[in-house]
Amino acid sequence: MYSIAIDGPAGAGKSTIAKEIAGRLGFIYVDTGAMYRAMAIYFLRKGIRGDDCETIASLCPEIKVSIAYDEEGKQQVILNGENVTPYLREEEVGKMASVSSAIPAVRAALLDLQRNLAASSDVLMDGRDIGTHVLPDASLKIYLTASPEVRARRRYDELRQKGIDCDLHQIEEDIIQRDKQDMGREIAPLRQAEDAILVDSSDMSIEEVVDTIISEFHKIS
Ligand code: C5P
Repeated sequence: MYSIAIDGPAGAGKSTIAKEIAGRLGFIYVDTGAMYRAMAIYFLRKGIRGDDCETIASLCPEIKVSIAYDEEGKQQVILNGENVTPYLREEEVGKMASVSSAIPAVRAALLDLQRNLAASSDVLMDGRDIGTHVLPDASLKIYLTASPEVRARRRYDELRQKGIDCDLHQIEEDIIQRDKQDMGREIAPLRQAEDAILVDSSDMSIEEVVDTIISEFHKIS
């Protein structure tokens, strides 16, 4: 069984790259950020503040997150029986996920699910702590990053393409803030695992990043 861990900051292009590589290698793609986002939807719907650690921890036992795959092989996230996939990418969901994922009970609630997925199939899992914590023995670890300016510009272009009005400067501020939160938290902070290969995609095309990672995988498989 093979596992590839791809960690990195928000907007580095992890999910685009990961989906493509998983498709080419025939691996299951597991987007762990989507699981944290599903939990965030639960807290948002309950009207809880992201920094209300006690209430959030007390609610974790009543939350059941699971994943399924549709006919096209796309990951669907199920929150207590409801498919919440259409709401996962909303801005406030991402912000809540970034805050609530720093709470130990939230991380503990998802750890077994993530490890069990990797134990049952070849997986490509992306997130923040996959190589450092969830799958410390992953077959291949990649730390995928890009400068905050490049990440903001990509996000801006993506939103504009969807016809959404947005401010490049604000997006960059949000990205820097998200990095701070993800890298600065006490539990499972975002950092490059010692044995991870650093890929800085600032000046690389999607194709180049995909080819780089696939050739790293061929070296070890
Ligand atoms: O990657 P994505 O933006 O969907 O993740 C949303 C948030 O979930 C991140 O900002 C991060 O705080 C959290 N997350 C995490 N650990 C992971 C994946 C995501 O803490 N493995």
